[in-house]
Amino acid sequence: MPIEVEIVTPRRQLFAGEVEMITLPGSDGQMGVLRNHAPLLTILDIGEIVLHLPDGRQDYIAVSGGVVEVRPNKVIVLAQSAERADEIDIDRAQAALQRAQESIRNRSTEERRPVELALERSRVRLKVAERRRRQRTPGSGSASSGE
Ligand code: ATP
Repeated sequence: MPIEVEIVTPRRQLFAGEVEMITLPGSDGQMGVLRNHAPLLTILDIGEIVLHLPDGRQDYIAVSGGVVEVRPNKVIVLAQSAERADEIDIDRAQAALQRAQESIRNRSTEERRPVELALERSRVRLKVAERRRRQRTPGSGSASSGE
């Protein structure tokens, strides 16, 4: 039985619909939520959301923090920012990664935190964009051989 999912950012609604399962980066690591999960409120880390859709496909979303509320029939994600794999600007994420890598070198330990977070956001965006590329490239590993 599917579970309803809503993903919103301060700017927009990114997803609303039913999924078989959602996995997301909770404060204790990547967690999977199915229908009838125990109610829960948790912080979202920077990471990847995977929507396991009823038709068997998977949708990947890069998320940069927020909160998630799990109810028995519904998961509500309030994300600081989030992008679907097909929306990610790879050049922009690569530029952000490079900027962060360069600026982290000259910083003291206390000053590093915001740059580390920027580094993490860009890494996750590149990973999510890469997953989509792999999904679309036959024979690259994750595609099924059913067709
Ligand atoms: P940048 O340094 O490239 O701005 P950032 O990590 O500082 O990256 P955020 O503050 O997390 O950016 O996001 C600002 C807005 O830009 C959000 O709406 C986010 O969804 C969007 N965004 C950030 N990076 C990308 C990207 N590579 N592709 C598409 N949208 C992005």
